[in-house]
Amino acid sequence: MKILKIDHIGIAVENMDNGKNFWSDILGLSFEGDETVAEQKVKTAFFPVGESEVELLESTSPDGPIAKFIEKKGEGIQHIAFRVENIESALAELKSKGVRLIDEIPRKGAGGAKIAFLHPKATSGVLVELCERG
Ligand code: ZN
Repeated sequence: MKILKIDHIGIAVENMDNGKNFWSDILGLSFEGDETVAEQKVKTAFFPVGESEVELLESTSPDGPIAKFIEKKGEGIQHIAFRVENIESALAELKSKGVRLIDEIPRKGAGGAKIAFLHPKATSGVLVELCERG
């Protein structure tokens, strides 16, 4: 399996406008646009930083995964995403090594990426996302 880079760092925010205010207006990162991923009940906004991006995540529903994360742990870093060359083969390799996966089959993420999450129990408590972009 080949990891190419840190694709993005996902940060859970209660309020997207406050998040944009800090990351964009104050830190000066450019705001690349936002997108709602209905399937995951989340609105995302991307801010490129060099080779990687900051991804802000705001829940669109009180029962969404981001709302639940904030309820338990508060706002903050929710996941780290690695870009891989081939997500299907990466998942197959991890599975063969006995790594617990949340997604055995990639799903569709923001920006048309193919994404899959590994289980935090298998990664020292870090929610790891793999992503492949065309
Ligand atoms: Zn992500």
